[in-house]
Amino acid sequence: MIQFENVTRRYGGKIAVSELNLEIPPGQLFAFLGPNGAGKTTTIKMIVGLLRPSSGTIRLCGHDVTKNNSAANRLLGYVPDVPYLYDKLSGSEFLQFIAEMYGLDRRQTAERIAEQIEAFRLQEFVEDLTESYSHGMKQRLAFAAAMLHDPRVLVIDEPMVGLDPRSVRLVKDLLRAKAAQGQTIFMSTHLLSIAEEIADRVGIVDEGRLKFLGTLDELRRKLATHETSLEHLYLSFTEAERLQADQNGATSQVPTPSPLAREDGPP
Ligand code: ATP
Repeated sequence: MIQFENVTRRYGGKIAVSELNLEIPPGQLFAFLGPNGAGKTTTIKMIVGLLRPSSGTIRLCGHDVTKNNSAANRLLGYVPDVPYLYDKLSGSEFLQFIAEMYGLDRRQTAERIAEQIEAFRLQEFVEDLTESYSHGMKQRLAFAAAMLHDPRVLVIDEPMVGLDPRSVRLVKDLLRAKAAQGQTIFMSTHLLSIAEEIADRVGIVDEGRLKFLGTLDELRRKLATHETSLEHLYLSFTEAERLQADQNGATSQVPTPSPLAREDGPP
């Protein structure tokens, strides 16, 4: 479970995330969508404790990520958009290191590492130094490391970037399987087709504000369209937002709330 309560993050005078209220229950695969600079990475960095909210609270399974960082961290697996590995360790040494960090015992370490090597098909290169890996190989190792302690919450920034089609399929299937086992998954993605295929619920963020929260069917209903592609819906949505902002600017200085901004209720 991930809970955001009125979370705002500023960089100096700039508001990157504004008054975010959101709850993602166990077993849900949530996709966070938005254009460049919308606030997705800032939100993810706050969930994983790399940035503090300027105000508001984020809880992982009830633990405040700012006040109770180590308890929250134990529940968390994180796959950043650029994997952080140690060049001079092999893949298997890196996994050993991560297992130690999470306090797994010898038996658990051996079992879990073997499972992840199998799941992410690391066999062919896991004994090589990670400096020799391609981006996709690094990404698969980063996934394996994030899953090693079987976290209750998995946070992924742009999960499919750099993966070949076979690995994309593998990761999609694995994420769906993990959600079915009760894991809470928060992923940011630019790949709308991936959100459409595997997400239970989507949030669309733009200029730091959550503009839409709901299922794809709810998004389609709000836009009153028969289009089935999320890409079309997403573009319609952002165009509708900009058009409305332009109209508000032309007719009044007081912004009108977007008809798309509420999770429930008629548009
Ligand atoms: P992208 O899809 O391009 O990665 P994003 O949705 O992840 O974008 P963020 O990186 O969270 O967006 O950025 C949100 C806003 O905050 C942007 O306007 C960005 O310029 C600003 N920002 C991000 N990091 C910093 C920083 N360290 N200092 C100042 N402003 C920042």
